[in-house]
Amino acid sequence: MCGQPLGRFKTFVTGPLCAINGVSAEPPSHKECGEFSAKACPFLSKPRMRRNEKDLLDSSPHPAGQMIDRNPGVALLWTTLAYQAVPVADGLLFRVGKPQTLQWFAEGRQAQRAEVLSSLEGGLSLLRAEAEQEGPPALKELELFPVR
Ligand SMILES: [Zn+2]
Repeated sequence: MCGQPLGRFKTFVTGPLCAINGVSAEPPSHKECGEFSAKACPFLSKPRMRRNEKDLLDSSPHPAGQMIDRNPGVALLWTTLAYQAVPVADGLLFRVGKPQTLQWFAEGRQAQRAEVLSSLEGGLSLLRAEAEQEGPPALKELELFPVR
């Protein structure tokens, strides 16, 4: 976010589905920059805020992978020592390494357990609905996905 080189620790500002699949569509940042984002970004700090796509051009890059178009209501700061950039058809995804710390934010403050669980359940039900449309292999893969 600040443009300075990253140190040993990398922080992914992501959502609850990253906690399930260990994948982020956004590159890492400094922990301090991630915390600033979680507190100041309107989309990350206001659960009812929608993504602002007003001035996006048709040619603007979209995040790689399949994004669920919702505001999860909580932001997860996943700080790790390692990650792997994974090329996919429409860009790059990031498989996050073992977490050193996990910080949950809601409304710009530390999230409450109930807020995190509610967001996780909401995200999981959307994933399940998509997997049901894709068929039994997708459902099986969802069941097998390790929660890190
Ligand atoms: Zn920074």
